[in-house]
Amino acid sequence: MKLSSRISSIKPSPTLEITVKANALRAEGRDVIGFGAGEPDFDTPDTIKKAAVKAIEEGFTKYTPVDGIVELKDAIIKKLKRDNQLDYTRSEIVVSCGAKHTLYNITQVLFEETDEVIIPSPYWVSYLDMVILSGATPVIIGTDPAQGFKISPRQLEKAITAKTKAIIINSPANPTGVVYTLPELKALAEVIGEKEVLVISDDIYEKIIYDDMHFCNIASLSEEMKRLTIVVNGVSKTYSMTGWRIGYAAGPEEIVAAITKLQSQNTSNPTSISQCAAVEALNGNQSSIGEMVDEFKKRRDFIVDALNDIPGISCMLPQGAFYVFPDVSACYGKVYNGKKISSSSDFAAYLLDEANVAVVPGADFGNDKHIRLSYATSLRHIEEGMKRITNAVLKLS
Ligand code: PMP
Ligand code: GLU
Repeated sequence: MKLSSRISSIKPSPTLEITVKANALRAEGRDVIGFGAGEPDFDTPDTIKKAAVKAIEEGFTKYTPVDGIVELKDAIIKKLKRDNQLDYTRSEIVVSCGAKHTLYNITQVLFEETDEVIIPSPYWVSYLDMVILSGATPVIIGTDPAQGFKISPRQLEKAITAKTKAIIINSPANPTGVVYTLPELKALAEVIGEKEVLVISDDIYEKIIYDDMHFCNIASLSEEMKRLTIVVNGVSKTYSMTGWRIGYAAGPEEIVAAITKLQSQNTSNPTSISQCAAVEALNGNQSSIGEMVDEFKKRRDFIVDALNDIPGISCMLPQGAFYVFPDVSACYGKVYNGKKISSSSDFAAYLLDEANVAVVPGADFGNDKHIRLSYATSLRHIEEGMKRITNAVLKLS
């Protein structure tokens, strides 16, 4: 069977693949500790579940408007005003089946072969493949721990050409946990505004932020930046609702209408029941978020210290999201059982084979010196995982 060249141009999502692999090994009886999946391990709050049950009981189980029910659009408008000081109308909001779907839709309605799209690296695995699927050319701006994994205005300026259509900004970031400050965003906005480049602002980790860091959206800096920005967000991470599949975009009416047209030809509306749950998530009591973030912070502090105690591993303190992205390259060139470790994939494979620990190779995020661990798992698992990684690294010679 000859499949399309389009589908052959991309790879399966590595973050989802590692979770499937870890689960398969567990089913075979192996005691694998998973640091792969980027999803909160908490249950969806009861009030949200109850809203979904009510929707089912009331028979709210049919098609809805393609771009989402009015109650959810209004809840999103209220949230964007309350949390981000951004004003949108209903025709500037479209609800999709998860922020991943939202991002995919955006890349499909905006990009084509002649376009370039700037992606700061390390990047979330799916940005690259989504841009490739759209036919556009991804332009990667590399960053390293010395610059705090953040792009500078100068790097951005150099990357922009006459073909540049957009830049993807993800703060707090997956996989580094980096958060851009207000002055940093202002400096980037100056370059972006001058060159009239669109911004896709992926705010999915907005609420998972630590210490005294504050979330800021580039769209809120000026009317001009709002006109150039498409805000992407969802309920997956903030309310531990990964399985419900609700994400949304807020942005210029023309782009939102194009997404709605595309969606009318593929998924139709996002699930009616999940939409009712998302209304409750956004409008209801927000206290579960603080409780979740407090717990994540404890785990972050523990895992960063534990990783930095391992000879050959160094890890930056993330300021948001629930990932650590340690540099393991000092272990490259070392050998175990005659096998040499030369890359992040070799290192991840070694940890899985020898230590029963699942992590994601940094190469999938654009940086082969690092690996990614999600600490959205219990402190007990994290403690055991760190013991196993320490022993595995000490065995290398
Ligand atoms: N953006 C980033 C950076 C992510 O890590 C994720 C996690 N899957 C998403 C978007 C998509 O989230 P969802 O589709 O569950 O809303
Ligand atoms: N975003 C999460 C992660 O990076 C979930 C998996 C995915 O959608 O990629 O692990």
